[in-house]
Amino acid sequence: MEGKTLEADVTIIGGGFTGVAIARELSRYQVDVVLVERSGELAAGASKATLGHIYTGLNMVGSMILKSVVLAPGTPLTVENVHDTKALVNQWNEEGFDEWRQILVDLGVEHKDTHLLIVGKTEDHAEDFKKYLMLGQMAGGIYADFEQVGREKIFALEPHISKDIQTALYAKDHIIDVFPPELVIAIAENASQNGTRILLNAEVTGITKHQNSQSVQTTNGTIKTRFVINAAGGWADKVADLGGSRDWGLKFNKTQLMFLDRRLNQFLNGAVRWPNKPGKIEVLERRIDNIMVECGTYDPTDNPGDTGTMREDMLKGLAIGRTLLPGISEKDVIAAFAGVRVFNTRTPGDHIVEFPPDNPLFLNVIIRLPGIIGAPPMARYVVEMLKKAGLELAVNEKFNPIRKRFPRIRGASIEERQKLVAERPEFGHVICRCEEVTEGEIIEAVRRGAQTVDGVKMRTRASMGRCQGNFCSAKIVAIMARELKQPLEDITKKGTKSNYAG
Ligand SMILES: Cc1cc2nc3c(=O)[nH]c(=O)nc-3n(C[C@H](O)[C@H](O)[C@H](O)COP(=O)(O)OP(=O)(O)OC[C@H]3O[C@@H](n4cnc5c(N)ncnc54)[C@H](O)[C@@H]3O)c2cc1C
Repeated sequence: MEGKTLEADVTIIGGGFTGVAIARELSRYQVDVVLVERSGELAAGASKATLGHIYTGLNMVGSMILKSVVLAPGTPLTVENVHDTKALVNQWNEEGFDEWRQILVDLGVEHKDTHLLIVGKTEDHAEDFKKYLMLGQMAGGIYADFEQVGREKIFALEPHISKDIQTALYAKDHIIDVFPPELVIAIAENASQNGTRILLNAEVTGITKHQNSQSVQTTNGTIKTRFVINAAGGWADKVADLGGSRDWGLKFNKTQLMFLDRRLNQFLNGAVRWPNKPGKIEVLERRIDNIMVECGTYDPTDNPGDTGTMREDMLKGLAIGRTLLPGISEKDVIAAFAGVRVFNTRTPGDHIVEFPPDNPLFLNVIIRLPGIIGAPPMARYVVEMLKKAGLELAVNEKFNPIRKRFPRIRGASIEERQKLVAERPEFGHVICRCEEVTEGEIIEAVRRGAQTVDGVKMRTRASMGRCQGNFCSAKIVAIMARELKQPLEDITKKGTKSNYAG
């Protein structure tokens, strides 16, 4: 690919939720699209290290409560004062939530509806709950669709959480739970099936403007393109500077998260959190994969790639986690990682989607959290902006929203397993015992584009269990080397300079 020049109508920079959602939406039309991602795999930024809730209702009322702390003293607590219905982020979240279930079915991505309990034990919590109930009722609709429940219901739903909990706000199905990297890749695969070209290891290093087009220089070739979309997440400020001027910056907040051993999954059924506090998050959630602990602070950092973790933070997080689910301890933690939330400095409460004044062919799409929920309407909005800017959009009659299903042994019935193994015997050979992933799935992941061991992990969850790859990584590397016809030494964990051997 190096040195080659591709041609495209639209080049999307960044392979996180924002970039791939736009790519899939554009693939509904007869438009030549190239998506470039600087890493060796998609979902390399915030989209990998995210809690991954698709949520609405009670969780959103929680966000309103958080905002209320910045109101001037004496300002009444009304929905208007804490919930900007005109903000793109709020409009898209409401619209997006309703769409996701069907999209997840179309993409064949594992997901489950999860309940939310915001729990309380003190007088302060009781006061908080009055505000939640009042705001929820004022906002109406899905925001009011929750109830205050007592201990009987709480412990029927979550028998193992702290017995100190006296009361809770309960929403039955305001959260859809997914494994985020798998979803990013599934969206990209579907876009690719419908014609999008995806270029990995392609860091954008320069953009040259011509009369009615632009040349995007990457570390994996050049793309001559008409439109450029900047969906580079935490790095979007640097990319924006290549395309035009800007009157906004980015700021970053880092939080450490943990995965617990799968054997603990039986002790939590949904999401449980303390009422929201400014600058803090205290939630335990039984995700589709493992229990996630996100009990920490929003620590300012100047680096969107600041994903290092500290044992001290892990212990603090666990201490809070234990106030929700007593008995969890350091030995239950199988992995810790950090996620960096991104906000723009001009309108931190909303996204920025705009062409800079000096480049009508370069669209900045700067997404703040929550960026997953609103991604489908966001993508439609972006496509509409491109249309208004002159992109011709003839419908792609061949567009197929259904992604070719990823065959899995985990969760399959006996009959499905027998059928799969009969057709492809490598599905009878378990490689990752913790997560029950077979050689067949690893081969499938490689055939679908996994270039690194992390790429296999994101598609299959191989090496994500208790042993964290200690028993299976060597086998995965060997299978990958064979399938990719590469020497063992060339197989990496996540791209450059992370080789396993050699
Ligand atoms: C801890 C945490 C919890 C969260 N929880 C939720 C939640 O529950 N629900 C929700 O909806 N949202 C949540 N969010 C927010 C959500 O994860 C983000 O809004 C979303 O992932 C942002 O996606 P993105 O594509 O805009 O950015 P990213 O995922 O960061 O993608 C940007 C991509 O651009 C690439 N890139 C950068 N520079 C270049 C370049 N020069 N050339 C080529 N490629 C480049 C990067 O490698 C990266 O892959 C959470 C975020 C965090 C950190």
